[in-house]
Amino acid sequence: MKTFLFALVGALALTQGLLSAPSAGEGPGTATVVEKPLAAPAPAAAPATAPAMPVDASAQSIVLAGSSTVGASKPHYITTATIRPRSSKGAGARLGSATKGYKVWGTGKTSKGYTQIKFLGRTGWVKSNQLKRLVVAKYTAKQSTVLRSKANGGKKLATIGRDYTLGTVDNARNKSRSWVRVQYKGKTGWVALKHVKKASLGKAVGPGTRTYSDAAWSKAVSKNISRYCPRTTVRVSHRKNEYYAQSSPRRITLSRVGHPDPNAAPIKAVALHECAHIMQFKAYPRGFSKLVRHAEKINPRRDGYGIEHLADCMSDSMGAKRSGRLADGSTYYTGYHGKCSSTQKRAAAQLIAGKRPA
Ligand SMILES: [Zn+2]
Repeated sequence: MKTFLFALVGALALTQGLLSAPSAGEGPGTATVVEKPLAAPAPAAAPATAPAMPVDASAQSIVLAGSSTVGASKPHYITTATIRPRSSKGAGARLGSATKGYKVWGTGKTSKGYTQIKFLGRTGWVKSNQLKRLVVAKYTAKQSTVLRSKANGGKKLATIGRDYTLGTVDNARNKSRSWVRVQYKGKTGWVALKHVKKASLGKAVGPGTRTYSDAAWSKAVSKNISRYCPRTTVRVSHRKNEYYAQSSPRRITLSRVGHPDPNAAPIKAVALHECAHIMQFKAYPRGFSKLVRHAEKINPRRDGYGIEHLADCMSDSMGAKRSGRLADGSTYYTGYHGKCSSTQKRAAAQLIAGKRPA
């Protein structure tokens, strides 16, 4: 296959200080777009201010609805709005207030759209829709295991991969205390306790580093970009922040360090950004210095990253979410930041359609 060395590659790499020597097997004429390190997820936002109050963290046994009595932790909630608990459901003495983001423990009682909570050492009622239930314990699968509709049996609801961390909002056990009730991808079911181990509450829910093999991880990423970049090899890297696209052989390399879940929004966005470079290579098979010049000309930031911003704009229209909030509340950013101008969007659409904007 014919390969081309693009002047861009060196320039980009110098700016970013990141051009790695071509790895073994690559021809000297291979074009490679090496990415600068992506921003690490920012720490979780501080919860909304709430009056400092002691939180009763003790667990007790409660009766949950259903056929059997199980031991379970008290429910823990975070408020989704300002709450003004009252001694009765929608009536009675006012016990005070707490702002959105305040954490409270429930008693386990709910009735007609109201939930009973412990508040300032007293018992009060608030509207259930002002509370969101919090995970009270986490477990990591020691092996692949099955989520079942009942303890000890019932319907198979899902297969949970090894090293996957699950949360539970009630930590309920069955009578023999050999199964625990958990939440998995929006489903509530039971897993055998012998297949899981207790994890710290700070551990993120989701796949662990051993949940996906490299092959399975690569396959999942390939699937996520297949609409735009079919038959593009996804090579898995174990070097932190190593992301690049090559024109020949046509492939992308993505670091899975810090990205155990190939379907998580940040890695989807990075994969689509690299796919965008592959499409840029395709539209300019004889070298895309012309595109580089044009991309910088229409780059409102004029920061030398025109081609990168253009790849970001392409990834946007391919469905990438370049920034957002993860399940654990932390925020993430991928790509080179910044909104796309209408001119950039137009160029991105042309490239996606296989046309040349310049
Ligand atoms: Zn890039």
